[in-house]
Amino acid sequence: MPHQLLVLNPATEDVVATVPAATAEDVDAAVVRAAAAQRGWAAAAPADRARLLRRFAAVVDDHIEELARLEVREAGHTIGNARWEAGNVRDLLDFAAGGVERLSGRQIPVPGGLDVTILEPLGVVGVIAPWNFPMPIAAWATAPALAAGNALLLKPAETTPLTALRLAELALEAGLPEGLFQVLPGEGAVAGDALVVHPGVAKIVFTGSTKVGKAIMAKCADQVKRVTLELGGKSPNIVFADADLEAAAAATPMSFLDNSGQDCCARTRILVQRSVYDRFMDLLAPAIEEIVVGDPSDERTQMGPLISRAQLERVRSYVPDSLPGVRGKAPEGPGFWFPPTVLTGVAEDAPCAVDEIFGPVAVVLPFEDEDDAIRLANATPYGLSGSLWTRDVGRALRASRAVRAGNLSVNSHSSVRYWTPFGGYKQSGLGRELGPDALTAFTETKNVFISTEA
Ligand code: NAD
Repeated sequence: MPHQLLVLNPATEDVVATVPAATAEDVDAAVVRAAAAQRGWAAAAPADRARLLRRFAAVVDDHIEELARLEVREAGHTIGNARWEAGNVRDLLDFAAGGVERLSGRQIPVPGGLDVTILEPLGVVGVIAPWNFPMPIAAWATAPALAAGNALLLKPAETTPLTALRLAELALEAGLPEGLFQVLPGEGAVAGDALVVHPGVAKIVFTGSTKVGKAIMAKCADQVKRVTLELGGKSPNIVFADADLEAAAAATPMSFLDNSGQDCCARTRILVQRSVYDRFMDLLAPAIEEIVVGDPSDERTQMGPLISRAQLERVRSYVPDSLPGVRGKAPEGPGFWFPPTVLTGVAEDAPCAVDEIFGPVAVVLPFEDEDDAIRLANATPYGLSGSLWTRDVGRALRASRAVRAGNLSVNSHSSVRYWTPFGGYKQSGLGRELGPDALTAFTETKNVFISTEA
Protein backbone atom coordinates (compact mmCIF):
# COMPACT_ATOMS: atom_id res chain seq x y z
CA MET A 1 0.00 0.00 0.00
CA PRO A 2 1.66 3.30 -1.08
CA HIS A 3 1.89 6.14 1.41
CA GLN A 4 -1.25 8.30 1.23
CA LEU A 5 -1.56 12.09 1.50
CA LEU A 6 -4.49 13.08 3.68
CA VAL A 7 -6.38 16.12 2.41
CA LEU A 8 -8.47 17.82 5.12
CA ASN A 9 -11.03 20.60 4.79
CA PRO A 10 -9.41 23.32 6.96
CA ALA A 11 -12.79 24.84 7.83
CA THR A 12 -14.29 21.58 9.21
CA GLU A 13 -11.36 19.12 9.60
CA ASP A 14 -13.37 16.61 7.50
CA VAL A 15 -11.38 14.32 5.20
CA VAL A 16 -11.76 15.56 1.61
CA ALA A 17 -9.60 12.89 -0.05
CA THR A 18 -6.65 10.60 0.28
CA VAL A 19 -4.12 10.67 -2.54
CA PRO A 20 -1.31 8.16 -3.15
CA ALA A 21 2.04 9.87 -2.62
CA ALA A 22 4.49 9.74 -5.50
CA THR A 23 7.76 7.91 -4.82
CA ALA A 24 11.23 8.61 -6.22
CA GLU A 25 10.58 5.77 -8.71
CA ASP A 26 7.37 7.51 -9.85
CA VAL A 27 9.42 10.65 -10.45
CA ASP A 28 11.98 8.68 -12.51
CA ALA A 29 9.21 7.25 -14.70
CA ALA A 30 7.57 10.66 -15.07
CA VAL A 31 10.84 12.24 -16.22
CA VAL A 32 11.19 9.58 -18.96
CA ARG A 33 7.62 10.24 -20.19
CA ALA A 34 8.09 13.99 -19.99
CA ALA A 35 11.35 13.95 -21.94
CA ALA A 36 9.71 11.93 -24.73
CA ALA A 37 6.72 14.30 -24.87
CA GLN A 38 8.94 17.37 -24.80
CA ARG A 39 10.81 16.42 -27.96
CA GLY A 40 7.62 16.41 -30.02
CA TRP A 41 6.26 19.52 -28.31
CA ALA A 42 9.41 21.57 -28.98
CA ALA A 43 9.37 20.47 -32.62
CA ALA A 44 5.71 21.44 -33.16
CA ALA A 45 4.88 24.62 -35.07
CA PRO A 46 4.64 27.60 -32.67
CA ALA A 47 1.09 28.33 -33.83
CA ASP A 48 0.04 24.76 -32.95
CA ARG A 49 1.56 25.00 -29.46
CA ALA A 50 -0.17 28.35 -28.95
CA ARG A 51 -3.50 26.95 -30.15
CA LEU A 52 -3.32 24.02 -27.71
CA LEU A 53 -2.48 26.33 -24.79
CA ARG A 54 -5.43 28.56 -25.70
CA ARG A 55 -7.63 25.48 -25.80
CA PHE A 56 -6.31 24.50 -22.33
CA ALA A 57 -7.23 28.02 -21.14
CA ALA A 58 -10.73 27.61 -22.58
CA VAL A 59 -11.22 24.25 -20.86
CA VAL A 60 -10.07 25.77 -17.55
CA ASP A 61 -12.55 28.60 -18.14
CA ASP A 62 -15.35 26.02 -18.53
CA HIS A 63 -14.39 24.58 -15.11
CA ILE A 64 -13.82 27.75 -13.06
CA GLU A 65 -16.61 27.02 -10.60
CA GLU A 66 -15.59 23.38 -10.11
CA LEU A 67 -11.92 24.29 -9.57
CA ALA A 68 -12.88 27.11 -7.20
CA ARG A 69 -15.12 24.83 -5.10
CA LEU A 70 -12.29 22.28 -4.91
CA GLU A 71 -9.91 25.01 -3.71
CA VAL A 72 -12.39 26.07 -1.03
CA ARG A 73 -12.56 22.49 0.24
CA GLU A 74 -8.88 21.61 0.18
CA ALA A 75 -7.36 25.01 1.11
CA GLY A 76 -10.15 26.90 2.92
CA HIS A 77 -9.93 29.86 0.54
CA THR A 78 -12.93 32.15 0.36
CA ILE A 79 -15.06 31.36 -2.67
CA GLY A 80 -14.47 34.82 -4.14
CA ASN A 81 -10.70 34.38 -3.94
CA ALA A 82 -10.89 30.83 -5.26
CA ARG A 83 -12.84 31.92 -8.36
CA TRP A 84 -10.22 34.60 -8.99
CA GLU A 85 -7.46 31.99 -8.62
CA ALA A 86 -9.01 29.61 -11.15
CA GLY A 87 -9.53 32.55 -13.53
CA ASN A 88 -5.90 33.47 -13.03
CA VAL A 89 -4.85 30.04 -14.34
CA ARG A 90 -6.91 30.65 -17.49
CA ASP A 91 -5.40 34.12 -17.93
CA LEU A 92 -1.84 32.87 -17.42
CA LEU A 93 -2.35 30.21 -20.10
CA ASP A 94 -3.82 32.75 -22.52
CA PHE A 95 -1.03 35.23 -21.83
CA ALA A 96 1.68 32.59 -22.30
CA ALA A 97 0.01 31.33 -25.49
CA GLY A 98 0.38 34.84 -26.90
CA GLY A 99 4.12 34.61 -26.34
CA VAL A 100 4.83 31.42 -28.26
CA GLU A 101 5.09 33.08 -31.68
CA ARG A 102 6.86 36.13 -30.20
CA LEU A 103 9.71 34.21 -28.52
CA SER A 104 12.32 35.70 -30.83
CA GLY A 105 16.09 35.73 -30.65
CA ARG A 106 18.23 38.63 -31.88
CA GLN A 107 20.42 39.43 -34.85
CA ILE A 108 23.66 41.12 -33.79
CA PRO A 109 25.95 42.98 -36.21
CA VAL A 110 29.32 41.21 -36.67
CA PRO A 111 32.02 41.40 -39.35
CA GLY A 112 32.36 38.49 -41.79
CA GLY A 113 29.01 36.86 -41.24
CA LEU A 114 25.70 36.79 -39.52
CA ASP A 115 25.19 36.38 -35.79
CA VAL A 116 21.88 35.26 -34.37
CA THR A 117 20.65 34.13 -30.99
CA ILE A 118 18.21 31.25 -30.64
CA LEU A 119 16.07 30.77 -27.54
CA GLU A 120 15.85 27.04 -26.91
CA PRO A 121 13.64 25.26 -24.37
CA LEU A 122 15.39 23.82 -21.33
CA GLY A 123 13.75 20.38 -21.57
CA VAL A 124 11.95 19.02 -18.51
CA VAL A 125 11.17 21.60 -15.80
CA GLY A 126 10.25 20.70 -12.21
CA VAL A 127 7.91 22.95 -10.25
CA ILE A 128 7.60 22.61 -6.47
CA ALA A 129 4.59 24.55 -5.20
CA PRO A 130 3.37 25.61 -1.74
CA TRP A 131 -0.12 25.24 -0.31
CA ASN A 132 -1.02 28.90 0.05
CA PHE A 133 -2.00 29.60 -3.58
CA PRO A 134 -1.98 26.12 -5.12
CA MET A 135 -3.46 27.01 -8.50
CA PRO A 136 -1.95 30.39 -9.39
CA ILE A 137 1.56 29.52 -8.26
CA ALA A 138 1.52 26.26 -10.18
CA ALA A 139 0.35 28.11 -13.28
CA TRP A 140 2.90 30.95 -12.93
CA ALA A 141 5.57 28.50 -14.01
CA THR A 142 3.55 25.92 -15.92
CA ALA A 143 2.06 28.28 -18.49
CA PRO A 144 5.29 30.02 -19.65
CA ALA A 145 7.37 26.85 -19.37
CA LEU A 146 5.00 24.95 -21.67
CA ALA A 147 4.74 27.94 -24.01
CA ALA A 148 8.54 28.04 -24.33
CA GLY A 149 8.56 24.39 -25.43
CA ASN A 150 9.31 22.56 -22.18
CA ALA A 151 7.63 19.65 -20.44
CA LEU A 152 6.49 20.26 -16.88
CA LEU A 153 6.45 18.12 -13.74
CA LEU A 154 4.52 19.74 -10.90
CA LYS A 155 4.80 18.66 -7.28
CA PRO A 156 2.02 20.34 -5.31
CA ALA A 157 2.18 20.76 -1.52
CA GLU A 158 1.20 17.73 0.57
CA THR A 159 -1.99 19.39 1.86
CA THR A 160 -3.28 20.72 -1.49
CA PRO A 161 -2.81 18.29 -4.38
CA LEU A 162 -6.40 18.20 -5.70
CA THR A 163 -6.66 21.26 -7.94
CA ALA A 164 -3.26 20.46 -9.48
CA LEU A 165 -4.41 16.91 -10.30
CA ARG A 166 -7.62 18.27 -11.84
CA LEU A 167 -5.66 20.76 -13.96
CA ALA A 168 -3.56 17.90 -15.36
CA GLU A 169 -6.79 16.11 -16.38
CA LEU A 170 -8.08 19.28 -18.02
CA ALA A 171 -4.81 19.62 -19.95
CA LEU A 172 -5.36 16.18 -21.46
CA GLU A 173 -8.99 17.03 -22.20
CA ALA A 174 -7.76 20.12 -24.07
CA GLY A 175 -5.50 17.92 -26.21
CA LEU A 176 -2.07 18.55 -24.69
CA PRO A 177 0.18 15.56 -25.41
CA GLU A 178 0.27 12.76 -22.83
CA GLY A 179 3.25 13.16 -20.49
CA LEU A 180 3.85 16.86 -21.23
CA PHE A 181 2.27 18.17 -18.02
CA GLN A 182 2.28 15.71 -15.14
CA VAL A 183 1.40 16.20 -11.49
CA LEU A 184 3.31 14.28 -8.82
CA PRO A 185 1.62 14.71 -5.45
CA GLY A 186 3.98 13.66 -2.69
CA GLU A 187 6.19 14.53 0.22
CA GLY A 188 8.71 17.33 -0.22
CA ALA A 189 11.60 15.25 1.05
CA VAL A 190 10.68 12.37 -1.30
CA ALA A 191 9.01 13.45 -4.57
CA GLY A 192 10.26 17.05 -4.29
CA ASP A 193 13.81 15.99 -3.57
CA ALA A 194 13.73 13.42 -6.39
CA LEU A 195 12.93 16.23 -8.85
CA VAL A 196 15.72 18.41 -7.44
CA VAL A 197 18.43 15.76 -7.78
CA HIS A 198 17.22 14.16 -11.03
CA PRO A 199 19.74 14.75 -13.85
CA GLY A 200 16.89 14.72 -16.37
CA VAL A 201 15.27 17.80 -14.82
CA ALA A 202 16.86 20.94 -16.25
CA LYS A 203 15.36 23.56 -13.95
CA ILE A 204 13.56 23.79 -10.61
CA VAL A 205 11.05 26.53 -9.91
CA PHE A 206 10.50 26.50 -6.18
CA THR A 207 7.98 28.56 -4.25
CA GLY A 208 7.94 28.08 -0.50
CA SER A 209 9.84 28.84 2.64
CA THR A 210 13.27 30.46 2.57
CA LYS A 211 14.69 27.55 4.61
CA VAL A 212 13.69 24.88 2.07
CA GLY A 213 14.56 27.19 -0.83
CA LYS A 214 18.14 27.53 0.41
CA ALA A 215 18.50 23.76 0.72
CA ILE A 216 17.13 23.27 -2.80
CA MET A 217 19.47 25.90 -4.23
CA ALA A 218 22.44 24.17 -2.60
CA LYS A 219 21.42 20.82 -4.09
CA CYS A 220 20.85 22.33 -7.53
CA ALA A 221 24.41 23.69 -7.43
CA ASP A 222 25.72 20.15 -7.72
CA GLN A 223 24.46 19.96 -11.32
CA VAL A 224 24.47 23.72 -11.92
CA LYS A 225 20.75 23.19 -12.33
CA ARG A 226 18.79 26.33 -13.18
CA VAL A 227 16.64 27.57 -10.34
CA THR A 228 14.01 30.20 -9.72
CA LEU A 229 13.14 30.79 -6.06
CA GLU A 230 10.06 32.58 -4.72
CA LEU A 231 10.48 32.59 -0.95
CA GLY A 232 9.24 34.27 2.19
CA GLY A 233 8.46 37.85 3.09
CA LYS A 234 7.82 40.25 5.96
CA SER A 235 6.65 43.20 3.98
CA PRO A 236 6.19 46.78 5.20
CA ASN A 237 3.10 48.96 4.82
CA ILE A 238 4.51 52.48 5.34
CA VAL A 239 1.98 55.16 6.27
CA PHE A 240 3.42 58.69 6.16
CA ALA A 241 1.72 61.54 8.03
CA ASP A 242 0.78 63.22 4.74
CA ALA A 243 -1.17 60.16 3.49
CA ASP A 244 -4.93 59.93 3.06
CA LEU A 245 -5.21 58.22 6.45
CA GLU A 246 -8.82 57.08 5.97
CA ALA A 247 -7.91 55.34 2.71
CA ALA A 248 -4.72 53.87 4.18
CA ALA A 249 -6.52 52.51 7.25
CA ALA A 250 -9.42 51.13 5.20
CA ALA A 251 -7.03 49.24 2.91
CA THR A 252 -4.79 47.91 5.68
CA PRO A 253 -6.86 44.95 7.01
CA MET A 254 -7.01 42.98 3.76
CA SER A 255 -3.36 43.83 2.99
CA PHE A 256 -2.38 41.21 5.55
CA LEU A 257 -5.63 39.26 6.13
CA ASP A 258 -6.28 38.14 2.58
CA ASN A 259 -5.95 34.34 2.42
CA SER A 260 -5.81 34.44 6.24
CA GLY A 261 -2.40 36.07 6.04
CA GLN A 262 -0.94 33.04 4.27
CA ASP A 263 0.41 35.26 1.55
CA CYS A 264 4.09 35.84 0.85
CA CYS A 265 3.29 39.49 0.02
CA ALA A 266 1.24 40.13 3.17
CA ARG A 267 1.99 43.58 4.57
CA THR A 268 2.61 42.36 8.11
CA ARG A 269 4.77 45.25 9.34
CA ILE A 270 2.58 48.35 9.50
CA LEU A 271 4.97 51.31 9.89
CA VAL A 272 3.17 54.51 10.89
CA GLN A 273 4.65 57.99 11.31
CA ARG A 274 4.51 58.79 15.01
CA SER A 275 2.64 62.09 14.57
CA VAL A 276 -0.43 60.26 13.13
CA TYR A 277 -0.06 56.95 14.98
CA ASP A 278 -2.99 57.43 17.38
CA ARG A 279 -5.32 58.73 14.66
CA PHE A 280 -4.38 55.81 12.38
CA MET A 281 -5.00 53.23 15.14
CA ASP A 282 -8.41 54.80 15.88
CA LEU A 283 -9.32 54.24 12.22
CA LEU A 284 -7.75 50.78 11.95
CA ALA A 285 -9.15 49.13 15.09
CA PRO A 286 -12.86 49.09 14.04
CA ALA A 287 -11.92 47.95 10.53
CA ILE A 288 -10.12 44.92 12.01
CA GLU A 289 -12.98 44.10 14.37
CA GLU A 290 -15.49 44.15 11.48
CA ILE A 291 -13.71 41.60 9.27
CA VAL A 292 -16.07 38.69 8.55
CA VAL A 293 -14.30 35.43 9.41
CA GLY A 294 -16.11 32.16 8.79
CA ASP A 295 -17.36 29.57 6.31
CA PRO A 296 -15.21 30.17 3.21
CA SER A 297 -17.99 29.00 0.87
CA ASP A 298 -20.23 31.85 2.07
CA GLU A 299 -20.01 34.73 -0.43
CA ARG A 300 -19.89 37.33 2.39
CA THR A 301 -16.87 35.81 4.14
CA GLN A 302 -13.69 37.88 3.96
CA MET A 303 -11.34 35.52 5.76
CA GLY A 304 -11.34 31.74 6.14
CA PRO A 305 -9.34 29.32 8.30
CA LEU A 306 -5.62 28.58 8.31
CA ILE A 307 -4.50 25.62 6.23
CA SER A 308 -3.72 23.12 9.00
CA ARG A 309 -3.41 22.46 12.71
CA ALA A 310 0.38 22.75 12.42
CA GLN A 311 0.01 26.22 10.91
CA LEU A 312 -2.48 27.20 13.62
CA GLU A 313 -0.03 26.14 16.34
CA ARG A 314 2.77 28.06 14.63
CA VAL A 315 0.70 31.25 14.47
CA ARG A 316 -0.42 30.84 18.11
CA SER A 317 3.17 30.49 19.23
CA TYR A 318 3.85 34.07 18.05
CA VAL A 319 0.83 35.65 19.73
CA PRO A 320 0.60 35.10 23.48
CA ASP A 321 -2.61 36.59 24.96
CA SER A 322 -0.44 38.99 26.99
CA LEU A 323 0.62 40.97 23.89
CA PRO A 324 -1.35 44.23 23.51
CA GLY A 325 -3.22 44.97 20.29
CA VAL A 326 -6.50 44.65 18.40
CA ARG A 327 -8.15 41.29 17.88
CA GLY A 328 -11.06 40.50 15.58
CA LYS A 329 -13.49 37.58 15.70
CA ALA A 330 -13.11 33.94 14.64
CA PRO A 331 -15.44 30.93 14.83
CA GLU A 332 -15.19 28.40 17.66
CA GLY A 333 -15.28 24.64 17.18
CA PRO A 334 -13.72 22.48 14.47
CA GLY A 335 -11.48 24.07 11.86
CA PHE A 336 -8.17 25.87 12.04
CA TRP A 337 -9.36 29.36 13.03
CA PHE A 338 -7.34 32.34 14.20
CA PRO A 339 -8.75 35.88 14.58
CA PRO A 340 -7.43 38.93 12.70
CA THR A 341 -4.77 40.36 14.99
CA VAL A 342 -2.79 43.60 15.08
CA LEU A 343 -0.07 43.77 17.74
CA THR A 344 1.06 47.10 19.17
CA GLY A 345 3.81 48.08 21.57
CA VAL A 346 6.19 45.33 20.44
CA ALA A 347 9.95 45.80 20.04
CA GLU A 348 11.34 46.17 16.50
CA ASP A 349 13.30 42.96 16.97
CA ALA A 350 10.56 40.90 18.66
CA PRO A 351 10.01 37.54 16.90
CA CYS A 352 6.49 38.61 15.82
CA ALA A 353 8.00 41.73 14.18
CA VAL A 354 10.83 39.88 12.44
CA ASP A 355 9.69 36.36 11.47
CA GLU A 356 7.28 35.48 8.70
CA ILE A 357 4.33 34.20 10.75
CA PHE A 358 2.16 33.32 7.75
CA GLY A 359 -1.11 33.96 9.54
CA PRO A 360 -3.55 36.86 10.10
CA VAL A 361 -1.14 38.77 12.32
CA ALA A 362 0.53 42.15 11.79
CA VAL A 363 2.58 44.42 14.04
CA VAL A 364 2.38 48.23 14.11
CA LEU A 365 5.65 50.09 14.64
CA PRO A 366 5.99 53.89 14.83
CA PHE A 367 8.68 55.79 12.91
CA GLU A 368 9.95 59.38 13.14
CA ASP A 369 10.71 60.57 9.60
CA GLU A 370 11.41 59.34 6.05
CA ASP A 371 14.92 58.08 6.85
CA ASP A 372 13.64 56.18 9.85
CA ALA A 373 10.83 54.65 7.77
CA ILE A 374 13.29 53.41 5.14
CA ARG A 375 15.63 52.07 7.81
CA LEU A 376 12.78 50.09 9.41
CA ALA A 377 11.40 48.91 6.07
CA ASN A 378 14.79 47.51 5.09
CA ALA A 379 15.63 46.02 8.50
CA THR A 380 14.78 42.48 7.39
CA PRO A 381 16.52 39.75 5.42
CA TYR A 382 13.41 39.64 3.20
CA GLY A 383 12.57 41.92 0.28
CA LEU A 384 9.47 40.71 -1.49
CA SER A 385 6.92 43.53 -1.50
CA GLY A 386 5.73 46.65 0.29
CA SER A 387 3.36 49.59 0.19
CA LEU A 388 3.83 53.33 0.66
CA TRP A 389 1.03 55.72 1.55
CA THR A 390 1.76 59.40 0.92
CA ARG A 391 0.33 62.33 -1.08
CA ASP A 392 3.84 63.65 -1.82
CA VAL A 393 4.96 62.44 -5.27
CA GLY A 394 8.62 63.15 -4.57
CA ARG A 395 8.51 61.13 -1.37
CA ALA A 396 6.69 58.28 -3.14
CA LEU A 397 9.47 58.09 -5.72
CA ARG A 398 12.32 58.49 -3.21
CA ALA A 399 10.89 55.81 -0.94
CA SER A 400 10.10 53.46 -3.86
CA ARG A 401 13.76 53.66 -4.86
CA ALA A 402 15.04 53.22 -1.32
CA VAL A 403 12.98 50.20 -0.21
CA ARG A 404 14.84 47.05 -1.23
CA ALA A 405 11.98 44.85 -2.39
CA GLY A 406 10.83 43.46 -5.73
CA ASN A 407 7.19 44.58 -5.74
CA LEU A 408 6.08 47.92 -4.39
CA SER A 409 2.78 49.73 -4.55
CA VAL A 410 2.03 53.40 -3.82
CA ASN A 411 -1.35 54.22 -2.25
CA SER A 412 -2.41 50.64 -2.98
CA HIS A 413 -1.55 47.12 -1.88
CA SER A 414 -1.57 45.53 -5.28
CA SER A 415 1.52 43.42 -6.08
CA VAL A 416 0.70 40.69 -8.52
CA ARG A 417 -0.50 40.90 -12.11
CA TYR A 418 0.32 38.14 -14.58
CA TRP A 419 1.67 40.65 -17.10
CA THR A 420 4.08 42.48 -14.73
CA PRO A 421 7.25 40.95 -13.26
CA PHE A 422 7.20 39.44 -9.78
CA GLY A 423 9.99 38.26 -7.48
CA GLY A 424 12.07 39.00 -4.44
CA TYR A 425 15.17 40.93 -3.41
CA LYS A 426 17.54 39.55 -0.77
CA GLN A 427 16.34 36.30 0.85
CA SER A 428 12.86 36.57 -0.70
CA GLY A 429 13.99 34.92 -3.88
CA LEU A 430 16.03 34.63 -7.02
CA GLY A 431 14.84 35.41 -10.54
CA ARG A 432 11.52 36.78 -11.71
CA GLU A 433 8.26 35.20 -12.79
CA LEU A 434 5.30 36.62 -14.72
CA GLY A 435 5.55 39.73 -16.85
CA PRO A 436 6.77 40.31 -20.40
CA ASP A 437 9.87 38.11 -19.94
CA ALA A 438 8.16 35.13 -18.32
CA LEU A 439 8.91 32.74 -21.20
CA THR A 440 12.62 33.56 -21.43
CA ALA A 441 13.14 32.22 -17.89
CA PHE A 442 12.44 28.80 -19.42
CA THR A 443 14.95 29.02 -22.26
CA GLU A 444 18.69 28.90 -22.88
CA THR A 445 20.20 31.46 -25.24
CA LYS A 446 22.32 29.94 -27.98
CA ASN A 447 24.52 32.22 -30.06
CA VAL A 448 25.24 31.13 -33.66
CA PHE A 449 27.75 32.80 -35.98
CA ILE A 450 27.44 31.98 -39.68
CA SER A 451 30.44 32.99 -41.74
CA THR A 452 29.89 34.63 -45.12
CA GLU A 453 33.58 34.13 -46.04
CA ALA A 454 33.54 30.37 -46.66
P1 NAD B 1 7.58 24.81 2.32
O1 NAD B 1 8.91 25.34 1.98
O2 NAD B 1 7.43 24.03 3.56
O3 NAD B 1 7.06 23.85 1.15
C1 NAD B 1 6.93 24.28 -0.18
C2 NAD B 1 7.01 23.09 -1.09
O4 NAD B 1 8.32 22.51 -0.98
C3 NAD B 1 6.03 21.96 -0.77
O5 NAD B 1 5.56 21.41 -1.99
C4 NAD B 1 6.89 20.97 -0.03
O6 NAD B 1 6.40 19.64 -0.15
C5 NAD B 1 8.21 21.12 -0.75
N1 NAD B 1 9.38 20.67 0.00
C6 NAD B 1 9.55 20.67 1.35
N2 NAD B 1 10.76 20.15 1.67
C7 NAD B 1 11.36 19.84 0.50
C8 NAD B 1 12.63 19.27 0.16
N3 NAD B 1 13.53 18.94 1.09
N4 NAD B 1 12.94 19.08 -1.14
C9 NAD B 1 12.06 19.45 -2.11
N5 NAD B 1 10.84 19.95 -1.85
C10 NAD B 1 10.50 20.17 -0.56
O7 NAD B 1 6.61 26.07 2.27
P2 NAD B 1 5.06 26.11 2.59
O8 NAD B 1 4.92 26.11 4.07
O9 NAD B 1 4.32 25.10 1.78
O10 NAD B 1 4.69 27.54 1.97
C11 NAD B 1 4.77 28.70 2.70
C12 NAD B 1 6.01 29.50 2.28
O11 NAD B 1 5.97 29.80 0.90
C13 NAD B 1 6.08 30.83 2.97
O12 NAD B 1 7.37 31.06 3.44
C14 NAD B 1 5.75 31.83 1.86
O13 NAD B 1 6.26 33.10 2.04
C15 NAD B 1 6.32 31.16 0.67
N6 NAD B 1 5.70 31.68 -0.56
C16 NAD B 1 6.42 32.49 -1.37
C17 NAD B 1 5.85 33.03 -2.51
C18 NAD B 1 6.62 33.93 -3.43
O14 NAD B 1 6.20 34.09 -4.55
N7 NAD B 1 7.72 34.52 -3.02
C19 NAD B 1 4.55 32.70 -2.84
C20 NAD B 1 3.84 31.87 -1.97
C21 NAD B 1 4.44 31.35 -0.84
